[in-house]
Amino acid sequence: MARGAQSRYVCQSCGASVLRWEGQCRTCGEWNSLVETVVREEPRPRVLAGGATGGGAAPVALSHPTEAGDEPRRAVGIGELDRVLGGGLVAGSVVLLGGEPGIGKSTLLLQAAAGVAGGPGAPMVLYATGEESVSQVRLRAARLELTSGAVGDGIRVVAETGVGRIVDLARAERPGLLVVDSVQTVASEELDGPPGSVGQVREATQRLMELAKGEGVPVILVGHVTKDGTLAGPKTLEHLVDVVLSVEGDRTGGLRLLRATKNRFGSTEEVGVFEMGERGLTEVADPARAFLADHDEPAPGSVVAPVLEGSRPILVEVQALVAPTGAPSPRRTASGVDPNRLALLVAVLGRRAGIGLGSHDVYANLAGGLSVGEPGLDLPLALALASSLRDRPIVTGTVAIGEVGLLGELRAVGGLDRRLREAARLGFARALVPRPRGRELPAIAGLEVVVVGTLRDAVRAAVASQPGDGRERP
Ligand SMILES: [Zn+2]
Repeated sequence: MARGAQSRYVCQSCGASVLRWEGQCRTCGEWNSLVETVVREEPRPRVLAGGATGGGAAPVALSHPTEAGDEPRRAVGIGELDRVLGGGLVAGSVVLLGGEPGIGKSTLLLQAAAGVAGGPGAPMVLYATGEESVSQVRLRAARLELTSGAVGDGIRVVAETGVGRIVDLARAERPGLLVVDSVQTVASEELDGPPGSVGQVREATQRLMELAKGEGVPVILVGHVTKDGTLAGPKTLEHLVDVVLSVEGDRTGGLRLLRATKNRFGSTEEVGVFEMGERGLTEVADPARAFLADHDEPAPGSVVAPVLEGSRPILVEVQALVAPTGAPSPRRTASGVDPNRLALLVAVLGRRAGIGLGSHDVYANLAGGLSVGEPGLDLPLALALASSLRDRPIVTGTVAIGEVGLLGELRAVGGLDRRLREAARLGFARALVPRPRGRELPAIAGLEVVVVGTLRDAVRAAVASQPGDGRERP
């Protein structure tokens, strides 16, 4: 093997190391805990957050002003991406960009590369591809019209999967940005495991971290995410890197949401909204409206919810369909909403609001392929289920937001004022909300705010019980 380095299989549970892979650790008995790891003679300096290496740092008093926020940054030139990054790429930072295959990660990164290569100082960008050939990348760039001028000269593409070679190239060329597409395809010569294995992904990331911290080069790694939403490769990868971004959306639809789930140099409160088109990803002018579906008529099973994505209010349409089941155990299918919350809401609706769904199949999703985890989605989801069961649309122009408790009681959500203002701005006339704790109801021009205490009240206020009831309100 290369360079006199040796690999050992190290137990991730107890730290014991052995020469060959075994299914079970002999020391602690844990299964599948052995990961191939490079063992080096001399310990390397440990790379700490923010690029400091251990050893020389002196303690600093809390009262002393710090340099947080003063990291040298380079704007990528894509407003929504720069915002999610916290104001651009920090020198020496390592960013992991995750998302399902085909969602647009490579497209976004080519556009980011173009922003750097065509930006101030115009440094070159090194784009290492292990997924596609150079000509495939070039073809994609041509579709995005990025192959001519300073940008076309400034982005250098190399088809390479050896992490050692990528690091050597970056040391020699000193790019303003290094893109590695993807971390699952690169491998170290020093390990026997295949690319994408836990040991390889971790070793490759560590080598790129050292490059980033040592040379001040920002590195963006692409990481593919499997259907169930986990990054293919180890969870430890997310702990290693400085920033974790994810691209979400419906591959067949046009909208993409960019989220930061970790950011050492900024907040994780920002989201970016893009639209995928012929010329790549473009920023959406009015993100709050982007995820609303268009209906000519109010449809049963549809409820609009003003959710908060980070600090940004976005209106999403919750859709539910319930139908009598033919099977002994009815289906509960959720997409974009938490399946456990869906099951719980079905139970609470049955026991506390007289909406029995025990003999019905239940399907729920969010329009536009969005995925929302906040508890405030409970109430709109429950109302969508009730509306679908009764086959009556909810009162026109209504939004709803609130958490549902096990007793059918409703709980307030944070940021109510911001959410409702956005709903009013987009033309909604009525909002169903739980009473805010210890605070006054926000008064918003043009918006009737209806306080509901229980799920039963909310269903009564939102879902017309007779045909035509839904149309009588303004
Ligand atoms: Zn062990």
